[in-house]
Amino acid sequence: IYILAIESSCDDTSVAVLHGRKTLSNLVATQQIHREYGGVVPELASRAHQQHIVPLVHQALAKANIDKKLLSAIAFTRGPGLLGSLLVGTSFAKSLALGLGIPLIEVNHMEAHILAHFIETPGKSPPPFPFLAMTISGGHTQIVKVNGYFDMEVLGETLDDAVGEAFDKTAKLLGLPYPGGPLIDKYAGQGNPEAFDFPIPKVDGLNFSFSGLKTSVLYFIQRNTKNDPDFVARERDNICASLQQTIVTILMQKLKKAARETGIRHIAIGGGVAANSGIRQALSEAEHKLGWTTYIPPFQYCTDNAGMIGIVGYLKYLDNRFTDLGVSAQARYRIGGQPH
Ligand code: ATP
Ligand code: FE
Repeated sequence: IYILAIESSCDDTSVAVLHGRKTLSNLVATQQIHREYGGVVPELASRAHQQHIVPLVHQALAKANIDKKLLSAIAFTRGPGLLGSLLVGTSFAKSLALGLGIPLIEVNHMEAHILAHFIETPGKSPPPFPFLAMTISGGHTQIVKVNGYFDMEVLGETLDDAVGEAFDKTAKLLGLPYPGGPLIDKYAGQGNPEAFDFPIPKVDGLNFSFSGLKTSVLYFIQRNTKNDPDFVARERDNICASLQQTIVTILMQKLKKAARETGIRHIAIGGGVAANSGIRQALSEAEHKLGWTTYIPPFQYCTDNAGMIGIVGYLKYLDNRFTDLGVSAQARYRIGGQPH
């Protein structure tokens, strides 16, 4: 079974071709234009998707070295995401499926981040059901109980900013370029995580909140630079290390609570923030101390990519879960629920 998959939920256009669980190609056209604005500009994003999508489909087929006549189905991201961006992928997927006379398969982007663990990867095996999945990215922060491919339950999520946003927005306050997450990670490696204290928010249950951190970092900088303009430049590494430790503590507190409450010790992480060395170290400590088995996909399947859309397409294909050509994009689309 060959699946062609299209992802266009945010600022990256991506096209992948899968043969069964294996990706033959997984190409991403990153939109550099948003860097100048320090964040994603929706109108620019959908225009860039329109420019990228046709050449990217051709390149993905060429790299996979298969003719489009061999394709079994087209999978695409229906939501959640930016409506204008989703519309580009959705209409293109529909016309491609119609033109080739093959089935169309809609995919929920958040389920795809989780099922990315089932893409065939040398040296890695997928988590067994049930497992806990924590998706940490620029747009989302969620803990999900995964009972089966199509049986997932959101246990907790952020009430305001996503964790990637917390990294990027605090990085911006420190004068670092967008996206600042990877830079905080880099400088944190050279600093002392105990140098400064940032507050851990008190949030009920398994939900998260990150907007308070941004505010406390803002006040922290204002307070310290008042009589010492070089404070941030001089203390950069220590601030980054302390900030990263705070964010990792917030994530791990909730993840440990979820593991305790469900009794599940297979823990899977995905999303761009899974690249963070602080969270990776905390997970490997939890393996030793708490007997967890943890799963992190290769980085190309953590950030937004069509490979993860393709694996859901494949799993749905096997289960005869096809989508009517009348389908429309859904900016708000919850895991396990109906789009709304
Ligand atoms: P979505 O939420 O739909 O997945 P996105 O494109 O914003 O959208 P990703 O591509 O998954 O999210 O991840 C990007 C985010 O990950 C950015 O916020 C970036 O700062 C953060 N990030 C990437 N690497 C690191 C790192 N090493 N440490 C901390 N944050 C990181
Ligand atoms: Fe994503």
